[in-house]
Amino acid sequence: MKNWSGYLQWNPTEVAYPDSEAAIQQLVKRAVEQKKKVRVIGAGHSFTPLCKTDEILISLDKFQGLIEVDKENSLATVKAGTRLYILGELLAEQGLAMENLGDIDRQSIAGTISTGTHGTGKSLGTISTQVAALSFVNGKGELVHCSETENTDLFKAAQVSLGALGIITSITLRCIPAYRLALQNRKEQLQAVLSSLDERWENNRNFEFYWFPYTEMAWTKSSNLVEDQPDKNSWLNYFTEYVLENYAYKVLCELAYAFPSMNERVSKISAASITNVKKVYQSHKVYATQRLVKFNEMEYNVPAEAYPEVFKEVRRVVNSRKFNIHFPIENRIVKQDDIYMSPAHGRESIYIACHAYNKKDPKPYFKALEEIFRAHDGRPHWGKMNTLTPQDIAGLYPKFDTFLAHRNEQDPDRIFTNPYLEKLLGD
Ligand SMILES: Cc1cc2nc3c(=O)[nH]c(=O)nc-3n(C[C@H](O)[C@H](O)[C@H](O)COP(=O)(O)OP(=O)(O)OC[C@H]3O[C@@H](n4cnc5c(N)ncnc54)[C@H](O)[C@@H]3O)c2cc1C
Repeated sequence: MKNWSGYLQWNPTEVAYPDSEAAIQQLVKRAVEQKKKVRVIGAGHSFTPLCKTDEILISLDKFQGLIEVDKENSLATVKAGTRLYILGELLAEQGLAMENLGDIDRQSIAGTISTGTHGTGKSLGTISTQVAALSFVNGKGELVHCSETENTDLFKAAQVSLGALGIITSITLRCIPAYRLALQNRKEQLQAVLSSLDERWENNRNFEFYWFPYTEMAWTKSSNLVEDQPDKNSWLNYFTEYVLENYAYKVLCELAYAFPSMNERVSKISAASITNVKKVYQSHKVYATQRLVKFNEMEYNVPAEAYPEVFKEVRRVVNSRKFNIHFPIENRIVKQDDIYMSPAHGRESIYIACHAYNKKDPKPYFKALEEIFRAHDGRPHWGKMNTLTPQDIAGLYPKFDTFLAHRNEQDPDRIFTNPYLEKLLGD
């Protein structure tokens, strides 16, 4: 098995593909009897070894689809293995859509919520905030249900759980009526973006920007609701988003890999090649981009108030230390929530994501930036690289103890653990 970027590889003794809730429960019961460890994998798009195990790996790839839809309340209950690109289509057929999404749609819905995956938008929380209820099989083989109104404390722990409480089998999503977005991508001066950043977060439903290291250039992306405008897309958009951002970019990445002295030039060429894109489409298709160039990633969020200082420091360090990188740095905003292990717990958060081509060693770069984020109470995205310990987490998450108490209750024999989770959450 390997993760999306290929950075992590492992050999489970057994990989199981259950196709029903009963089959998932049976597998867990057998693992309990045999005292085996279990990890569950979604699409394997996390950069941290959350899914790594040399014992039993469970994939829910054969457990996908809609279970039921309550149109009156815009609630959709789905099988936990459902991939987001399939989910988007299934919901659209019902006249529904998810309120927000991240920038790809290959993940499973359970994997998405289990790491606190997010998109961008000042009024929009992580994807986990869209969950109204869920069921999971715990470490005793029991099927547990929790929701906004039932087992509410457990629900707050289960909305972002890193797969440490059990195997989520079904998820009820609070959707909204299907909507369309007009997206505008632009090449802009970084200073123009920074000097009007608050208004941009405020005035766009979704706004984010990328900064190209060693340059003064930014790539901005804003999208807003439209009602009457017809679909608008063009071959030029397709060429830009599919060919330039993937195949042409791959050539640049290989060049900078072969000749690290080219990093700066590659970043400048990438910035200069940004083409303005305008399109109008169904929301789930607007959020999703193609990511064919493989990279490794670290992403931290910092409290919104700390962001200007943090970003200034990031630029200073990146420009002066000249790491072996050239990927643009992504900046997104997320509304605060009350989910125990959500990085956006209790604070409006700005997420800063840094990437390194997967053939390059990302560690020196990530280490330097992680120090900056940590100095400002940064919290990592759980699916992305970080070096936190349980002591660090306790200082960052006021409800960490409550989460651990639920973990003890739901998985007393630690069926759902691996060395990485032991290091991160404790054993
Ligand atoms: C190209 C790319 C783009 C990305 N873009 C974004 C983005 O825009 N925003 C963002 O926030 N993140 C982004 N990510 C990160 C990604 O969304 C998360 O890592 C997410 O968790 C991956 O989902 P997955 O289905 O691959 O889960 P996996 O990586 O397979 O698993 C993640 C965690 O979920 C657990 N899990 C999976 N299924 C279940 C289940 N049924 N029950 C209990 N636990 C379960 C696993 O055990 C593991 O702990 C991106 C990643 C990549 C590679």
